[in-house]
Amino acid sequence: MKIPPHVLSYVRRLERFPAYVYDLPGLRSHAEALHSALKSPSAGRGPEFYYAAKANPDAPLLRALDPFVDGIEVSSGGELVHVRQVLPHARLAFGGPGKTDEELRLALDLDVHRLHVESPHELHRLASLKRPAEILLRANLPVATSGAALSMSGPFGMDEDALDTCAKLIADRPWLHLRGIHAHLASGLDAPAMLDLASHIQGWAVPWLRDVCGITHPEVNVGGGMAVDYTTPGQLFDWDSYAEGLASLTAPNVRLRIEPGRAVTAYHGWYVTDVLDVKTTRGETYVVLRGGTHHMRTPVTKGHNQPFVPLLSRATPEPTQRATLVGQLCTPKDVFARDVPVPPLQPGDVVAFAMAGAYAWNISHHDFLMHPKPEFHYLDQ
Ligand SMILES: *Cc1c(COP(=O)(O)O)cnc(C)c1O
Repeated sequence: MKIPPHVLSYVRRLERFPAYVYDLPGLRSHAEALHSALKSPSAGRGPEFYYAAKANPDAPLLRALDPFVDGIEVSSGGELVHVRQVLPHARLAFGGPGKTDEELRLALDLDVHRLHVESPHELHRLASLKRPAEILLRANLPVATSGAALSMSGPFGMDEDALDTCAKLIADRPWLHLRGIHAHLASGLDAPAMLDLASHIQGWAVPWLRDVCGITHPEVNVGGGMAVDYTTPGQLFDWDSYAEGLASLTAPNVRLRIEPGRAVTAYHGWYVTDVLDVKTTRGETYVVLRGGTHHMRTPVTKGHNQPFVPLLSRATPEPTQRATLVGQLCTPKDVFARDVPVPPLQPGDVVAFAMAGAYAWNISHHDFLMHPKPEFHYLDQ
């Protein structure tokens, strides 16, 4: 695991821990690379690129991404209001199960570009507002998603029967405009598996939209879920081959859209903290760090070792021992990395956890044990 020089020199000057450090120049060049892969000549027209705000909705990150994305996907009224305020002109897609009437009204008031409808009941409630709405129906299709970190079956979207019900309902209500299908079916897939998924989704959605709904130029949103490999941080999702594959499997009359979150922002956040204690208990060495997984739950939810860089005040020797890196919480679950090789760490040494830019601070249980909050730094030069 490497730390970019500009991040390292900033982190070396930090005086208070824990701290989140976001590398905005790095994020911009990553987003630019994704954008140019998706819009390259070999990718044809290329899919529209929306960022899923729930991965990390921090305002400076949204502003950094804005020039490189076609829109933002939001999953709640809270995200909707926040993103609308940070990026007043951004195109928004609003999805998520269990939208309230207030949220549906808010979506129309705040001019969302596309509403992803999750159930016939939700569609009924939207219809009863009697206001124009641009809709994608969220489909829950029976595709095999082996190798996925998370399969989005269950309450998300609708099966074919419910989709047929929605199509009939929309046909009788001219203020509802059906534009296409949305499907976010799995996460953690590599490019070939993602292409397979996109092909399945289109293979079902395009004929259904044409034959049942009379839509000849449909939109198909094939979701997010592009893999992020925490065990091999240098191995990125293959955006070039994904974009080329999408171009070859998408008919020219189809407007394709993707909405990745994790693979966009994961790599450009760092959770940096210092060692409070090192101890060996029954043969196991524990490095106790200031803070904990109430600031960065990612390794607990994903069940991985969070990659990290030890930053010692003296010259950093090679790893000579194994240790478990834990936080300050009174629970055995408060583990950042278990039984990993480390150099001889001492109290006062600093550890920078990488890949803390997505599903990190914003999914964590901040108030558990009432420890101080981290500081937030947005590195921007
Ligand atoms: C969470 C989510 C995404 C983003 O998923 P990532 O794994 O972060 O890429 C996209 N679309 C929907 C509907 C989601 O719920």
